[in-house]
Amino acid sequence: GDEWVRVLPTRVVVPTTQAMHSFGAALAAELRAGDIVLATGDLGAGKTTLAQGIGLGLGVEDPVISPTFVLARRHAGADGRPGLVHVDAYRLGSAAELVDLDLDETMDQAVTLIEWGAGIAEDLAGSHLDIDIRRSGDPADETRVVYLEGFGPRWRDVDLSPLSVLPLD
Ligand code: ADP
Ligand code: MG
Repeated sequence: GDEWVRVLPTRVVVPTTQAMHSFGAALAAELRAGDIVLATGDLGAGKTTLAQGIGLGLGVEDPVISPTFVLARRHAGADGRPGLVHVDAYRLGSAAELVDLDLDETMDQAVTLIEWGAGIAEDLAGSHLDIDIRRSGDPADETRVVYLEGFGPRWRDVDLSPLSVLPLD
């Protein structure tokens, strides 16, 4: 069908919190209004930290904090860049509840990042960028490994692999 997936996801090593902010900002340069990013990774993996970096890259001025209790926050971008719709789907049971948040119109004009979105939000749009953030087994090691995988026509010709060789600190 129309489904498309890069065979080898882009893999990015992100050593620190600051590096995750830099990575998110660099990724934001590749993102457009209407894009949907589904972030996965266990609690504390760095999904919200990634959202902060994307916010930096879009010129968001208000603090990007976890939308755990409000489910979604909308942030304006700056200088013609798209805004950021930041969703926490952890408490959502279904895509229908996401649709009930009535974000459609905002999402057209923004980059939408959905924490815990995998398994719920794939059907929101024909295309989505999946970002999986993994920690190493050693709790003393702050390094995260980030896997980026685009699904659908939006990502067919997008090469995100340059992100894996960026100097991040
Ligand atoms: P999540 O939203 O996935 O639950 P958060 O982004 O809220 O995770 O929390 C991640 C925590 O881990 C933050 O306190 C952040 O400062 C810390 N951290 C340490 N190293 C990293 C790293 N390399 N990338 C992202 N966050 C990191
Ligand atoms: Mg979070």
